[in-house]
Amino acid sequence: MSNIRPFKVEFVRCWRGGVGVSIIACMTKTCESEFQYARLMEAAIEQALLAQDQGDVPIGAVIANGDGEIIASAYNRRIIDADPTAHAEVLAIRAAADVIGDWRLGGCTLAVTLEPCCMCAGAIVLARLDTVVYGATDPKAGAVDTLYHICNDERLNHRCEIISGVNAAVCGNLLTDFFRAQRAAGKK
Ligand SMILES: [Zn+2]
Repeated sequence: MSNIRPFKVEFVRCWRGGVGVSIIACMTKTCESEFQYARLMEAAIEQALLAQDQGDVPIGAVIANGDGEIIASAYNRRIIDADPTAHAEVLAIRAAADVIGDWRLGGCTLAVTLEPCCMCAGAIVLARLDTVVYGATDPKAGAVDTLYHICNDERLNHRCEIISGVNAAVCGNLLTDFFRAQRAAGKK
């Protein structure tokens, strides 16, 4: 827990109609929404730490409804469950749909500590989530901004608002520290 510093939004970038806008535009939207993203990311980081406690890669996700209430939380369970699809986002989407009783998660916001992969970005589109907030970018698998723009692809039938880089350093450090410890322990 000592690596979790006091919360601060370090950098925020929004996608509106596929055009990136700076944090200044975000701030004028409302400081309240920025605080909301930070609050959700803090909860996602707590989930990531639960994965780490169980020896899995520390990635966490939460989903909030339109009132900002967190209705689902999940963490990466790929190693724990020996399930290649047990990513935090997919598990959180399933849990949120279960709570709502509807496969459509319109009006909801998903916050996740790492940029979603192809599978999760696809699930986000399928679930019709309004907003995706993520922390660290993923240069090897990121499918929201880095390698692909699945959540803003005009060819698909749904697009999301993307808020990236929320507390990215803490989210990224969780991963680098985890893999460093794994290497030190002689694991792959
Ligand atoms: Zn994923």
